[in-house]
Amino acid sequence: MECRKLIDKLNREKHLDFPEWVALWSNYSDDDRLYAGELARSIALKHYGKNVYIRGIVEFSNRCGNDCFYCGIRRSNDKVQRYTLSDDVILDCCETGYQNGIRTFVLQSGEAVELDLEHLCDLVRSIKSRFDDCAVTLSLGELSFDEYASLRQAGADRYLLRHETADKVHYGKMHPKSMSLENRMECLRNLKKLGFQTGCGIMTGSPFQSAETLAQDMLFMESLQPEMMGIGPFIPHKDTPFAKFSAGTLESTLMAVSLCRIMLEKALLPSTTALGALQSNGRELGILAGANVIMPNLTPPDAQDNYILYENKKRADVPVLQAVADLQSRLDVIGYTFYTGRGDFGA
Ligand code: SAH
Repeated sequence: MECRKLIDKLNREKHLDFPEWVALWSNYSDDDRLYAGELARSIALKHYGKNVYIRGIVEFSNRCGNDCFYCGIRRSNDKVQRYTLSDDVILDCCETGYQNGIRTFVLQSGEAVELDLEHLCDLVRSIKSRFDDCAVTLSLGELSFDEYASLRQAGADRYLLRHETADKVHYGKMHPKSMSLENRMECLRNLKKLGFQTGCGIMTGSPFQSAETLAQDMLFMESLQPEMMGIGPFIPHKDTPFAKFSAGTLESTLMAVSLCRIMLEKALLPSTTALGALQSNGRELGILAGANVIMPNLTPPDAQDNYILYENKKRADVPVLQAVADLQSRLDVIGYTFYTGRGDFGA
């Protein structure tokens, strides 16, 4: 079947079979991508209008016990200066965001090395009580069911945990033996069970990715029905085993965003920072291809310097506030609105 017909079929049935996905991922042209992009944009408009949901991200710790082959803050990278922000600093970051209309805070870190669960729960409670009209999203990697349950109990609303790839062999090529796809998927199912708005996702153009692995990703996302999907290009980092691989392209990332929007119409889909790192207007293009979320960085600039997951993820040259204002005007230019509300799934 022609790609365009496959895109139409996906739109009608919200499902393609594995061979159809493989055919689409292997054969789509630029025109097909633009076609999917238009369709995805109209679906996003139907559900969200021209509102772009804003989430302020606080990269509160770069300590990491994992050794993912692609990631700049992997355990083995000893060039990174490790930090953990104090609760006061984290709350200050949230305050800055709050004053600028941000009503979702995303706390992200490396994989908890020595997780102080009680402390984290207290932090979530402090944020939720000080900013009681805000949502808290966590992105702390793989934890046990009970740990997720405590964080949910403490008031966390959402959780981001990209599955990275739904193909077992591919997963094994990107991660050390100590990590497993089964566990990651189990975590995602647990998060859903606990009532978190849950986000999975992938890097487009990651080393060893293929039309087949992408087909598996789409089928996995269809079965998980995540409320959010984080899709960004892989970008190499010089101090990782994947330093020599090339980055994913803008085009394939936009295609992935569009197909996710067509398949899961109401999903919260960020136009990722990595997309903006590929090209200066990358995030705007993501919005125009069907994304509806943007995540400005509220991390203090000196900490941002040590949270480099990939090359070019440099700190903004301007203060945090200036970067938020800049984002607002970029959205104005494309006729979209910086939406100041919690922006829950399905709301
Ligand atoms: N440790 C947490 C969150 C931090 S990493 C976790 O495991 O979920 C957040 C995301 O950054 C990862 O899921 C990965 O998809 C992305 N990332 C890491 N290295 C990257 C790279 N080199 N290029 C692009 N994205 C990368």
